[in-house]
Amino acid sequence: HEALDREELTVAYQPIIDVASGKVVSLEALLRWQQADGSFISPLEFIPVAEESGLMLRTGEYVLERACRQFAEWQRDGLGLRHICVNASTVQLMSSSFAGTVQRVLAESGVQAAELEIEISERGVLSGDSEVLLQLRQLKGIGINLSIDDFGTGDSAIAYLKDLPVDALKIDRSYIAGLGKEGKDFALASAMIALGQRLDLTVVAEGIETAEQLDVLRELACDCYQGFFAARPMDADAATGFLQKNRRS
Ligand code: C2E
Ligand code: MG
Ligand code: MG
Repeated sequence: HEALDREELTVAYQPIIDVASGKVVSLEALLRWQQADGSFISPLEFIPVAEESGLMLRTGEYVLERACRQFAEWQRDGLGLRHICVNASTVQLMSSSFAGTVQRVLAESGVQAAELEIEISERGVLSGDSEVLLQLRQLKGIGINLSIDDFGTGDSAIAYLKDLPVDALKIDRSYIAGLGKEGKDFALASAMIALGQRLDLTVVAEGIETAEQLDVLRELACDCYQGFFAARPMDADAATGFLQKNRRS
């Protein structure tokens, strides 16, 4: 409650890059909580607390508003971006007002539905929950893109692909960490990329930290990547600088 009231929550942005061209195509908005003493608390720690204490709807709305306003500025600057990606918590997806909130934020920020991608974590969502499915179909109906985050970490990965109207898959970084030219992670990553492509989905690899991992992705014709190798999550000003430089390069 206090973090929200004291405006200690901010949004960081991490570029998502086209493997073949090296150009930034989108950015993911990531919530940050910087305490008064300057230290950061990880979203993995405070988001579950916000979810349990009934604060996730307000928190999620805050991220969506900030991210869409920022994206509208980048579009006005002509930076050539495709999307802004925003994570949604299960709590938001279970709320019958979620699709309406998203539409309001789009209208207020001037961002087009097709320019927003909502990331749903495979860990959180129960694919069978009817309210979640309803919200996702409504979002899809207004033209919003959906992606499955942390693909490969839940137990319903394939069922999701069958039931949900998704556009993109984000391969969890646990499969990328040990990615070489052979071995189990290579076999799994290449199978996941092939699966996504057979279903006409954009495949994004998360957590690319080395040039070698990027080489393997290039060989496997993965669409996009995100990771410390290209850029860490940054505040809006740093991200603007990164985008301008990337555009010129
Ligand atoms: P996520 O959505 O899978 O976001 C990617 C996470 O991986 C981010 O952690 C990012 O900083 C980290 N990451 C990116 N590249 C690399 C890399 O090369 N190496 C390593 N080791 N890590 C990398 P972050 O920002 O700490 O967020 C953690 C998780 O918290 C997110 O995972 C997401 O599930 C959740 N989260 C963050 N912001 C929000 C939000 O606004 N709403 C909701 N519902 N969840 C959020
Ligand atoms: Mg995400
Ligand atoms: Mg992820």
